[in-house]
Amino acid sequence: MRLILLGPPNAGKGTQAKKMVNELNIPQISTGDIFRKNIKEGTPLGVKAKNYLDEGLLVPDELVVEIVNDRLDQDDCGGGFLLDGFPRTVVQAQALDNYLEQNNLNLDIVLNIHVEKDVLIERAVGRRVCKNCGATYHVEFQPSKKEKVCDVCGGEIVQRDDDKKETAEKRIQVYLDETQPLIEYYQSKELLATIDGQQEIAKVTDDIMKKVKEIS
Ligand code: ADP
Ligand code: AMP
Repeated sequence: MRLILLGPPNAGKGTQAKKMVNELNIPQISTGDIFRKNIKEGTPLGVKAKNYLDEGLLVPDELVVEIVNDRLDQDDCGGGFLLDGFPRTVVQAQALDNYLEQNNLNLDIVLNIHVEKDVLIERAVGRRVCKNCGATYHVEFQPSKKEKVCDVCGGEIVQRDDDKKETAEKRIQVYLDETQPLIEYYQSKELLATIDGQQEIAKVTDDIMKKVKEIS
């Protein structure tokens, strides 16, 4: 199964992706995670991407498309994949279409997680991530058992720089300008399913899995 999780920053894509890949047995491909890993390791890709992430801007399409195509070529994507945070522009969506066409593949569904702006900001300022393993928490909605300590690996839990209010607001504006047009793009291909992302985490998962089962 080949799926896309679409939605604004802090809609809950990563949270849902983690649950879905366990059930569906396909890899989660998060471009944000790929960039953060490369930045942490100081690779040439990380050096190129860092300023964009710090500023809450999108990394240029050519760079993103190249890393995603390379990732999709890997063996573990043979049985399908879940894209989280890609595509984010129409150019990226077209590049993905080209990749799929060249490989005789098609998308099964695009799940659009809808969340209003004030809730997105609330989620951003309260989001915390493990510095070591990347697990995601929220100070109020999804707290770790022990303050500032990751439940999964015991690593330190911190706030992402781009979750500070000002950058989070900028990222939402970037979403509205660059990514929101993809809703229509995938609607016109009859691939879009919209999910109410303002429900409890487990209910959002249920709604997503219902849609996925409908097309399986
Ligand atoms: P995204 O990957 O779309 O940027 P995340 O999955 O990281 O978003 O979620 C953003 C923040 O919101 C996290 O702190 C997460 O714990 C919290 N969160 C995710 N889904 C929900 C939900 N349904 N209700 C409340 N908080 C949520
Ligand atoms: P995310 O973890 O999905 O919130 O992404 C964090 C940051 O990584 C974004 O604000 C962008 O700077 C960058 N990024 C992630 N995915 C993409 C993408 N598909 N296109 C451009 N930039 C991206």
